[in-house]
Amino acid sequence: MAGGARSRELYRRALRVLPGGVNSPVRAMRAIGRDPVFVERAAGSELVDVDGNAYVDWVCSWGPLILGHAHPDVLAAVGEAAARGTSFGAPTAGEVELAEEVAHRVPSVEMLRMTSSGTEAAMTAVRLARAVTGREAIVKFAGAYHGHVDGLLAEAGSGLATQGIPASPGVPAAAAAATIVVPWNDAGAVAAAVDEHEVAAILAEPYPANMGLVPPGEGFLEQLRASADRAGALLVFDEVISGFRVAPGGAQELAGVAPDLTILGKVLGGGLPAAALGGRRALLERLAPAGDVYQAGTLSGNPLAVAAGLATLRRLDEDAYARLAATTRALADGLREVAGERPVQVAAETGLLTVFFSADPVRDWTGAAACDREAYGAWCRGLLDRGVYAPPSQFEAWFPSLAHTTEDVETTVAAAAEAFAEAA
Ligand SMILES: *Cc1c(COP(=O)(O)O)cnc(C)c1O
Repeated sequence: MAGGARSRELYRRALRVLPGGVNSPVRAMRAIGRDPVFVERAAGSELVDVDGNAYVDWVCSWGPLILGHAHPDVLAAVGEAAARGTSFGAPTAGEVELAEEVAHRVPSVEMLRMTSSGTEAAMTAVRLARAVTGREAIVKFAGAYHGHVDGLLAEAGSGLATQGIPASPGVPAAAAAATIVVPWNDAGAVAAAVDEHEVAAILAEPYPANMGLVPPGEGFLEQLRASADRAGALLVFDEVISGFRVAPGGAQELAGVAPDLTILGKVLGGGLPAAALGGRRALLERLAPAGDVYQAGTLSGNPLAVAAGLATLRRLDEDAYARLAATTRALADGLREVAGERPVQVAAETGLLTVFFSADPVRDWTGAAACDREAYGAWCRGLLDRGVYAPPSQFEAWFPSLAHTTEDVETTVAAAAEAFAEAA
């Protein structure tokens, strides 16, 4: 069984002092109809809960832990940094080294501004795009997530390209009105949106993984580049998940399409809070104090986070990506095999995977939203009870890491077969 008496007791206490018992909604496991599992510790691919149950962890903190939990290099780097002091509010050598490393890896990035979260980096990207173009409208895709920024919490209504309506109470209508939401993988809708509106930026997760993994169709990212160029808008890739994961230089390297601005996070901080906005020097130098666009952060470029990020990136060589690709492929193949003739689709790209409970391949948010979430929930609960910690939502990706072994894949596939049989 997953969870236990200590998890239940902590959840009871948590519900009194934390809204919903958690500090970020998906952790509550409501989407799969069960109570959260409280974590005691983790190492490599193994997570242990407060009741002593062990799991093969495919969530890995939702993406940062590409090396797995508690990697010795990361722990050593963080320990050394902490011994020198945890924060100075003044520049350090580590920030320069991390920025140099990122600029070296990510094709379109010459310069970085670091933040503590992906949300902040996305907010900065929008502000900078608006400042540079003198326009306000942002095109985003239905089902894409860019953090909890007011203006980006907008969903599509019906129709091809709709004016955004707020997806949460508390978001001013005016903040969402400048957001135009279009369907993913629909180049015609993007072209129509940039024709109709004065667009500052097209904002895309190049490998969307927040509606489950829905890769771009053939040529779609190139079409985004062309639409942005034709409209005089910036192309912004949110690579908070895909960055340093699907390839050493992220999705832009894999696809060979260069955005104007890139949002990075998750792997960048190696499990500590760090994110960044990157791009060409001429654009980034609009940020204060080089330029006039204001942006700041007390803990931005935090020395511990920078040390964890650098230690992580230094392990990510060609061989690492070959191993990550092999692990992901083995997991995807195994899950497809045990799914058999069931209405299940396994989408996968290096370091990312989603099991959609759908009869048809998923190409956009409409397809993702049509999945059988009840069936996913039952299957996922079955996995948890067999010691496999898969994302507790149909709309979140699995995050294979370099710590996952052949044995982890075998355990998971065997558990998946039983959970499928049980759910049927
Ligand atoms: C996680 C995520 C964010 C937000 O990052 P936080 O650090 O959680 O604020 C933004 N964009 C994408 C694509 C993400 O997956």
